[in-house]
Amino acid sequence: MDHRDRPEGLAHCVLCDRPQRTEFPDYCAGCGGPVVLPPAPVALPATTESTGAWRYAGRLPISQETAWLSMGEGQTPLVSATSTRAWCATERLRYKLDHLNPSGSFKDRATAVGIAQAITQGAPAVVCASSGNAAGSTAAYAARAGLPSVVLVPEAVPPGKAAVAQAHGATVLRVRGDYSNSFQVARELAARLGWLNLTTTFVNPVAVSGLRSAGYELAEQLSEVPDWIVVPIGSGPLVHGIVTAYQELRAAGMHTELPRILGVQAHGCAPIVDAFDRDVERVTPWPTVSTRISAISDPLRGYPSDGTYTLRLVRETRGAMVAVRDAEAEEAAEALARDEGLLIESGAAANLAAVRTARDRGWIHQDELVVCMLTGHGIKTLAAAGRQEAPLVANTDDVIGQLPAHTTKAPEDLNDRVKR
Ligand SMILES: [Zn+2]
Repeated sequence: MDHRDRPEGLAHCVLCDRPQRTEFPDYCAGCGGPVVLPPAPVALPATTESTGAWRYAGRLPISQETAWLSMGEGQTPLVSATSTRAWCATERLRYKLDHLNPSGSFKDRATAVGIAQAITQGAPAVVCASSGNAAGSTAAYAARAGLPSVVLVPEAVPPGKAAVAQAHGATVLRVRGDYSNSFQVARELAARLGWLNLTTTFVNPVAVSGLRSAGYELAEQLSEVPDWIVVPIGSGPLVHGIVTAYQELRAAGMHTELPRILGVQAHGCAPIVDAFDRDVERVTPWPTVSTRISAISDPLRGYPSDGTYTLRLVRETRGAMVAVRDAEAEEAAEALARDEGLLIESGAAANLAAVRTARDRGWIHQDELVVCMLTGHGIKTLAAAGRQEAPLVANTDDVIGQLPAHTTKAPEDLNDRVKR
């Protein structure tokens, strides 16, 4: 079936349940709450001959007519952790490699569906506010669709992330202040010019529904429901996507459990963790952003109900929230790159630090199955890491002189390496 066959208005506000239209997406006109599409009624099988989001065309609001937009978003590998298991003090640790999406972040799951919406509705252009990853994603898919795109980023955006969007031909503008300022301008611009808003807070329920594919894939890749799924959180649409997917599968009788969500925020911008720790229902905006972990620094100013809804979802899964300090996230990113071969931005590597904290607090047990969503590639933020210039050599003797001592010894028994 095709979701376009559904009567209009089935999208609804998660706070007051009022039905909402989706052509000009915005927050609930009644209460300002986030708007989402309802769960798909049955867990239809994936369409194996289609690519990316269109594998789930029966469950997502897209039709095969726009399948040409796909760049293979989603369908990312799920791999076992090796050396970093010890770092996190957990035995059964898996990584979902969402940094391998076409534009280097999980945002492509939502953007593909959002750009299909823009094409189907005949939107003249698209706009998004972004801390950096959605910028590159929107610019890339808009380029493929032949649509103009404008991306609004905070003034402190990592230059590599702005450069990706510029390379795809987007108009990239830095808006003074933090992410919430960019968010507000994107919302006003979309309303004034009739452009489709692809900002990946909860502002566009059609685009956000694309994030369900992460949950569908995990259910296909694992023979059991993971005990925990660890998710970096700005406002939380990925939590909604994963939880909704598992709810649909549970409703279809495919399993009985929901995975518990461990939500991760930066210590210097943690409005949802704050409400979790204080054991209150309502999330309030974060006053002053103070973190280098730009990918998850969303103060929720003007749309705190996004956080309230996300916290409600985390609690429904019997999950938890953890704040991670900049240095911990950067140490985790180093460990992933050096010991695991995975180049991941700090906002996603923060997951590992959160797992370690949750282990310390006794929330996660050593033998539980833990999946970390590695949501963003590290290559876009690498230039900012201040690395030394590579030494210049002229010949082989120079090279030998530069090598670490242990690499020039006789090789160890190869079998020891293979068995690991
Ligand atoms: Zn409402």
